[in-house]
Amino acid sequence: MLFASWGVFCAPAPGAQEPNESRHVVIVVWDGMRPDFVSEQNTPALWKLSREGIIFHNHHAVYPSATMVNGTALVTGVYPGRNGVIANHVYRPDIVLHHAIDVEIPAVVQKGDELSGGKYVAVPTLAELVQRSGRRTVIAAAKTVGLLLDRQIGAVQKSVTLFAGKSLPADILSSIIEKLGPFPSAHLQQDAWTTKALTDVLWKDGVPTLSLLWLGEPDLTQHESAPGAPAALAAIKSADESLATVLAALDQSNARATTDVFIVSDHGFSTIERSIDLRKILNDSGFTAKTELTDEPKPGDIMLAGNGGSVLFYVAGHEEKIIRRLVEFLQQSDFAGVIFTKQAMDGTFGLDQAKITNDHSPDVVMSFRWKDQKNQFGVSGMIDADWQRAAGKGTHATLSLFDMHNTLIAAGPDFRRGQTDDLPTGNTDLAPTILRILGITPQQQLDGRILSEAMTRGERRSRNGGLQSADVLSRKPETKTLETKKDFSSGTWKQTLRISRVGSTIYLDEGNGMFIPK
Ligand SMILES: [Zn+2]
Repeated sequence: MLFASWGVFCAPAPGAQEPNESRHVVIVVWDGMRPDFVSEQNTPALWKLSREGIIFHNHHAVYPSATMVNGTALVTGVYPGRNGVIANHVYRPDIVLHHAIDVEIPAVVQKGDELSGGKYVAVPTLAELVQRSGRRTVIAAAKTVGLLLDRQIGAVQKSVTLFAGKSLPADILSSIIEKLGPFPSAHLQQDAWTTKALTDVLWKDGVPTLSLLWLGEPDLTQHESAPGAPAALAAIKSADESLATVLAALDQSNARATTDVFIVSDHGFSTIERSIDLRKILNDSGFTAKTELTDEPKPGDIMLAGNGGSVLFYVAGHEEKIIRRLVEFLQQSDFAGVIFTKQAMDGTFGLDQAKITNDHSPDVVMSFRWKDQKNQFGVSGMIDADWQRAAGKGTHATLSLFDMHNTLIAAGPDFRRGQTDDLPTGNTDLAPTILRILGITPQQQLDGRILSEAMTRGERRSRNGGLQSADVLSRKPETKTLETKKDFSSGTWKQTLRISRVGSTIYLDEGNGMFIPK
């Protein structure tokens, strides 16, 4: 509603573009890398690369700030509600009746595609679009997220998806194992193995048009320790070494001058102040809340899908009375941050405002509360989180500034050198920007925008007069804070959500809430 006055501005310009056949794009994802850990000491290779390219100082994850959600947003260029991946863990009774599912596991993805006619990820991914233009892609992910990035539907042009030591097509794996041995079990070695699989095996016959390397670090170690822990800093150094390996391989292939390299993280990171056992708390308060079902749910039963810093609530039969009681309970709690509901309610925002509405939406989504206070290693950003990890450990997926603000650095022939970009940017902007670089026009309008203000050829007009960087540069980003309240006899619930906008692309900056007793 509040955005009704904002003009319509199409992000990726439609119309013909010249295919750029000689260009390569390499995306390296450092899972969970906070931008404030990029430094000459922590990340020497990335530091040097950033000096040769452009640092995006105001980059955003999509909400929930979780891996599968942001991986899918990165490669589709659309918000979660539109691509279908709205959380890492969701309850989809049509896929699995008895518990929440991990959205990326092969059996789930396959069933989801069967049920939707191949639209489990509802829009084409970057890899699919590049393949359709007749060019080759390689996805090399140390984590399971790889399957969501390219599940190899249709023509593949000898393209490959590697995900946590598995591959599509399946027979590619033997050539990698022959050279590198089996996929290791230790996190840092998994990243090193996946990096070598890319540079030494999958790039053997040349660097393809699009490559994406997904490193599991520093995410995995930050979960086991916390942001700023010695082990987490070592994991960041390991990610930097993988980047150095990729850049050296590009140099060796004489491909540096024709390759744009993007270093991006899927989300930021926080430290858990309190672990909140919502299932117990709700059951103690007279709700029937479950994470496992033994038989058919009864109307009013609440199925929980925990996502670390956010929780999804599915109320059986969508019983309105129970949804209302649940929301009012959360609003009077000391752990709720921002509450989104499918049906409009006092003191909540709609799922639409977080861009997470789809056919399988939960009734209620809650982001936990956060603070900017420091953890045991002097690193800012504390959150309450679900029952899955203990206080003092790292996690994410809230609307905290520290989860939603993530890393993006780009360098290569299409980017300005030695500059910074202070305009709001986000993970949904990568796909439209890369498609523009490769001269591919998506069939449907994307939600992200082309980062033309950061690009050397940004000023050039597309043939039919599309997006101009001058337009973007003259377009001051707008920021608004939404606020909503609910009064109770004992006090008032208040929650806020800050949103930035450039053109028609919106970015969620941060959101939080609190109950103020009378
Ligand atoms: Zn992640």
